[in-house]
Amino acid sequence: MARYTGPNCKLCRREGSKLFLKGTRCHLDKCSFEKRGYIPGMHWQRRPKLSEYGLQLREKQKAKRIYGLLEAQFHTTFIKATKVKGVTGDTLLRFLETRLDNVVYRLGFASSRKAARQLVRHRHITVNDRLVDIPSYRLSPSDRVQVCERSRQLALIHESLKRAGEGQQVPWLSVDKSNLSGTLLEYPTRDNIPTPVEEQLIVELYSK
Ligand code: SF4
Repeated sequence: MARYTGPNCKLCRREGSKLFLKGTRCHLDKCSFEKRGYIPGMHWQRRPKLSEYGLQLREKQKAKRIYGLLEAQFHTTFIKATKVKGVTGDTLLRFLETRLDNVVYRLGFASSRKAARQLVRHRHITVNDRLVDIPSYRLSPSDRVQVCERSRQLALIHESLKRAGEGQQVPWLSVDKSNLSGTLLEYPTRDNIPTPVEEQLIVELYSK
């Protein structure tokens, strides 16, 4: 599956907020957004005032970039969300949050979603005791995610667990650090998803 391979920090600067795409570095004073928070290429100019469409577009781009998806993947997720009964924006976020790569990140096994995606792709993760190497695999309540036996000693996982940031942890996941496993307790509700996006703007954009 295709993925974005360009510079991550530029994405934060473009969106005007820290998207925490680089793990540990994002929490240090090396963060590019802290040093150069202006839009790439615009130098010291002020951020332009956005139209209604501009606001909706930026919100969609932000969400897409936070979860590390390309347009086609994000749009497909949105279409699937529209087919489920309920509030589309909430369903969209629920679908994004219950992706395997996101859950691995939230459990603290990786310091960023990108690193989590790589763990999944490289077959280090099991779901209900079966190896799963599909980052977009969607989890259901009571699914158990675990680092597989042969990968338990990976320093990267232990480092990430030690440093797991505040914004990473959520009440709908239980973590067993000694066992390098975690369980999805229930589907997340909007109140329990600490992602700073206004999903309603995304729904409005795609509904035009
Ligand atoms: Fe964004 Fe800062 Fe992390 Fe770069 S280091 S990805 S600018 S939060």
